[in-house]
Amino acid sequence: MNEFALIARYFAPLTQGQDAAAGLQDDGAVFAVPEGCELVVTSDTLNAGTHFLADAAADDIARKALRVNISDLAAMAAEPYAYQLNIAFPEKPAEDWLAAFTAALKADQEEYGLFCSGGDTTGIQGPLSISITAFGLVPAGQAAFRGGAQAGDAIVLSGPVGDAWIGLQVARGKIDTADNDYFLQEYRCPVPRHDLVDVVRNYAHAAIDISDGLAADLAHICAASGTAAEVEVGEGLFSAEAVAVLHAEKASFVDLLTGGDDYELLLAVPEAHLAHFPDGLVIGRFRDGEPGVAFNNSLGGMLEIADQGWTHF
Ligand code: ADP
Ligand code: MG
Repeated sequence: MNEFALIARYFAPLTQGQDAAAGLQDDGAVFAVPEGCELVVTSDTLNAGTHFLADAAADDIARKALRVNISDLAAMAAEPYAYQLNIAFPEKPAEDWLAAFTAALKADQEEYGLFCSGGDTTGIQGPLSISITAFGLVPAGQAAFRGGAQAGDAIVLSGPVGDAWIGLQVARGKIDTADNDYFLQEYRCPVPRHDLVDVVRNYAHAAIDISDGLAADLAHICAASGTAAEVEVGEGLFSAEAVAVLHAEKASFVDLLTGGDDYELLLAVPEAHLAHFPDGLVIGRFRDGEPGVAFNNSLGGMLEIADQGWTHF
């Protein structure tokens, strides 16, 4: 099967017959943005060996590639709309790999309400690389940004962090826990907080998705907003499974605060709007001061976090 047959067979069905994609029969997609909306555009690339383990399953790779982009859209308060799928294959892909990969994308398209508008298929003398550019819609002027946090806002965390980091250590054989399957699943298959798009849009002053670790991503909000932040670190920031790993001294607070890949949202929420985030964890406050994050340890003292999270270089 050559490249064009492969596109027609496996990728064209992902367009769901949407006019914008023209059945992947043309050189580009043409979008009409609904009246009164703005288009939010975001890209994320996953490289084998760097962003997923070289032996990861096709469906897990597909879900992660799409979901990390949906997570970015949620952080911008945008509803998913469409995406471009760019793949560099180190060798001709097996048909069962393509079938599993595209079936997982199709299922997630239905879950999150978007379609494939096109992409690019190439060969590479290097690892498998998947780059998705996602498009989201937001009513004009209502996107959420990193830079809106104000002194006095609560720091709201949409769910526990650290599970994906533990999952990566389990996958690499570096940690063994009583809940290995749970952690592996959290690492392999993030669940973006698409459910929070509306509340983020209406009630948060600032938002970011946690891909590089809570410490690093909170620092990004502080830098963009020109605020300081103070976090009370306790077991409440973590899942019960992760707390068991902490108690077994197989991971530290710092590991869980700097490990990436959780894809929860971190929000700046004014006190008056906190009731709109009933499941959010209030982990601290934004304050006036030099941009930066102070972590108070609930067990006493401060946590020293030298290396705040993932960077490529
Ligand atoms: P060009 O040679 O102009 O780059 P391509 O042959 O790469 O064109 O692409 C032909 C059509 O197939 C385009 O509409 C493109 O969007 C689509 N396409 C190519 N690769 C993919 C892919 N991996 N996923 C979805 N659509 C794709
Ligand atoms: Mg091309």
